[in-house]
Amino acid sequence: MDKKWDLIIIGGGPGGYVAAIRGAQLKQKVLLVENHKIGGTCMNYGCIPAKYLLHQTKIYKDLKANKNLEGPLKDIKCNWKRVQEEKSRAVERLVKGLEFLLQKNGVKIINGMGLIKGNNQVSVMPDGEDEQVFDAEKIILATGSRPAELPFLRPNGKEIVTSREALELEDIPRRMIVIGAGAIGLEMGTIYQRLGSEVSILEILPTVLPGSDKETVKRLERILKAQGLHVYTQMKIESSQIKDGKVFVKGTSLESQSPFEFEAEKVLLAVGRSPNSEGLSVKESGLSMDDNRWVRVNPQLETNIPGTYAIGDLIGGKLLAHKASHEGLVAVENATGENKEMCYKALPMAVYTDPEFSSVGLTEEEATEKGMRIQTGLFPLQANGRALTLGRQEGMVKIIADECDLVIGAHVLAPNASEFISEIILAMSKGLKVQEMSSSIHIHPTLSEAVMEAALKVKNEAIHILNV
Ligand SMILES: Cc1cc2nc3c(=O)[nH]c(=O)nc-3n(C[C@H](O)[C@H](O)[C@H](O)COP(=O)(O)OP(=O)(O)OC[C@H]3O[C@@H](n4cnc5c(N)ncnc54)[C@H](O)[C@@H]3O)c2cc1C
Repeated sequence: MDKKWDLIIIGGGPGGYVAAIRGAQLKQKVLLVENHKIGGTCMNYGCIPAKYLLHQTKIYKDLKANKNLEGPLKDIKCNWKRVQEEKSRAVERLVKGLEFLLQKNGVKIINGMGLIKGNNQVSVMPDGEDEQVFDAEKIILATGSRPAELPFLRPNGKEIVTSREALELEDIPRRMIVIGAGAIGLEMGTIYQRLGSEVSILEILPTVLPGSDKETVKRLERILKAQGLHVYTQMKIESSQIKDGKVFVKGTSLESQSPFEFEAEKVLLAVGRSPNSEGLSVKESGLSMDDNRWVRVNPQLETNIPGTYAIGDLIGGKLLAHKASHEGLVAVENATGENKEMCYKALPMAVYTDPEFSSVGLTEEEATEKGMRIQTGLFPLQANGRALTLGRQEGMVKIIADECDLVIGAHVLAPNASEFISEIILAMSKGLKVQEMSSSIHIHPTLSEAVMEAALKVKNEAIHILNV
């Protein structure tokens, strides 16, 4: 294999592989180093398998809840083994497609652990083979993250698991405790609750999805509880014990100051992620990291080592696949001569509960804390015709504008919120005003009409609710 490359990328997840394809499009000779599976966490152990399981269990749940069906519905079972097989097939298909795409773009893939040395060199340790050292004009680090652990609750792959094992449980546990009510905790809890597990979600902070718009997540919490998830906030876990195949989790409620104890066959640890930065560079390379080992970058995504960039989960912030991919594009374009700054103003996120929660920009609390004079428009889905036809009226769309009417944030609870929030993302990234959003014609009946109505409500001009 050639020893000299224009661009070497370490890590083949959504950050690294997108950067590799764009690099090849920009006529770079690209080497992509991956020590496990192309597609990274997202394709193999994250976004894709989780969404497959969420979709399948939603079909099962919706069928059982549909009051208009007749026949022996109680006999319908979820064939979990088959669901797992089909999920693996879907993942495999995506990974194969991606490998094909990389190859057709001329990206060379090498399997092995990558590590940066000084002098723009990358060392690769292929499994069972000798070290190979390559020279690179530019380097992009995209090694992602792994589940974080608690000192008194360590995953053992059996009773205490991370999302990785939780996506592949062979049996449905009778009881499951989920530690952490972030996106992963809520999605995994939802999957197993739909399959019949009694799921308790314990969160140390006062709301689910900490840091999100309070009004919106309070409503989500109510909906999830009504669906049968046991959600407990302000729960500080202090110890755990495994006995006879069960885990006992003890702690103190920060609200009542009283002790609690929960017991389950499975505990899913979903308390955040840690960067894969250990062993990524030799000490002498001097790669700069913060106290928690997230790699430091400047607004152009360059690390303290000139010509070496870092992207994706490895640099922290919101740990999202589309953030990693966008950073991949910015980093590779900067590596080939541009001078672009990464802008996170309109970085969206979604949680695939039912209804979905999707959000972009500032929360009401963040805007107020910044001293901004804001205007908000909230439109409940009770007044949306499409939501009624879907039997899903518990959600809402909330739009926040600044005093000049510019859209600065939106928080949506609705079926397919992750799809139709794109309209608001575009409005935000192009600096549109609420009037520009509300004056475009929306198809009837759609959930996106609620976006138009929420934008109208900002100016107290909504049509389908009273503007009081
Ligand atoms: C259960 C779950 C569900 C999720 N759902 C969503 C979702 O719906 N939407 C969303 O946006 N995000 C979601 N995420 C987050 C998303 O998966 C990550 O943000 C995303 O994968 C980060 O991309 P990345 O390229 O930075 O890193 P990764 O995807 O982690 O890829 C890094 C790659 O680098 C490789 N690697 C590590 N070290 C080395 C080394 N030294 N040498 C060579 N290779 C190395 C790893 O094997 C890995 O393949 C989810 C995550 C989980 C766990």
